[in-house]
Amino acid sequence: MQTAISRIQEHIGDPVSDNPPLNRDDLEEVFEDIQADIRFDHELNGCLNCGICTATCPAAHYYDFSPREIVQLLWTENLEGIYDAMQEKIWSCAQCYTCAARCPFGNSPGGLVMIMREVAIKHGMQSAKDVLRPFSRVMLKLISTGNQLAPDMINPDHFADWGPNIAKIDAPLKLLRQAIPMATLNTTETAWEVNLKTSVELYTIWEMTGVLDQLETIDENLFDVISDIMDEKREDYEDWLDEQDADEEDDEEN
Ligand code: SF4
Ligand code: SF4
Repeated sequence: MQTAISRIQEHIGDPVSDNPPLNRDDLEEVFEDIQADIRFDHELNGCLNCGICTATCPAAHYYDFSPREIVQLLWTENLEGIYDAMQEKIWSCAQCYTCAARCPFGNSPGGLVMIMREVAIKHGMQSAKDVLRPFSRVMLKLISTGNQLAPDMINPDHFADWGPNIAKIDAPLKLLRQAIPMATLNTTETAWEVNLKTSVELYTIWEMTGVLDQLETIDENLFDVISDIMDEKREDYEDWLDEQDADEEDDEEN
């Protein structure tokens, strides 16, 4: 049987990494998961090492991050370097895809970073847990209601970095929302009211696409809270369906 040609060399390692050396099998498993993603071959076609992506990357301007470096690590299959970049660097990308628009090879460094992030979450890497922890309120809202941000989350105490402009949101939100003509916007708990059927359908999507499995890997407490909310909403939906059936039967009898 013909074996696949690999560019993996007897490796090299990352001479400036402070991370302890890792078992090669673990490193290979991480890289294989990245390579196995259906987007990988589309996002990585080769690399001239020209640096155009880094020259146009806003994240590279402010952080110790270079899309050129990320692409080179993947192209040369530098397993230690890939793993090391997943401990911090990949979380600097703003996902703006300027790099993808400029790369002469048609690569998408931002798309590759996205794949690496998803694999970091799948493997429960500490970097993924640390980066996503501050977003737990947003994830709770998003997964449980389908809305990312809600008016009641915009609390002046939570946005001190907005400076004096924060006073502008210190307003009677409930009253103001009631004044909006569209009934689905008369709430402050969600950006707009999502009906029960849509919520339950969303839960099925979160489950079937593996989002909930990923959440359980990186934040078990949040997963438990969201699972309880989902169970309650599903029960409410079943009750609502039963009520509809009962009403229909009453109508038929009358
Ligand atoms: S998608 Fe990421 S890597 Fe690409 S230019 Fe934007 S911030 Fe930089
Ligand atoms: S990814 Fe594209 S733009 Fe970036 S260094 Fe490689 S060839 Fe150049």
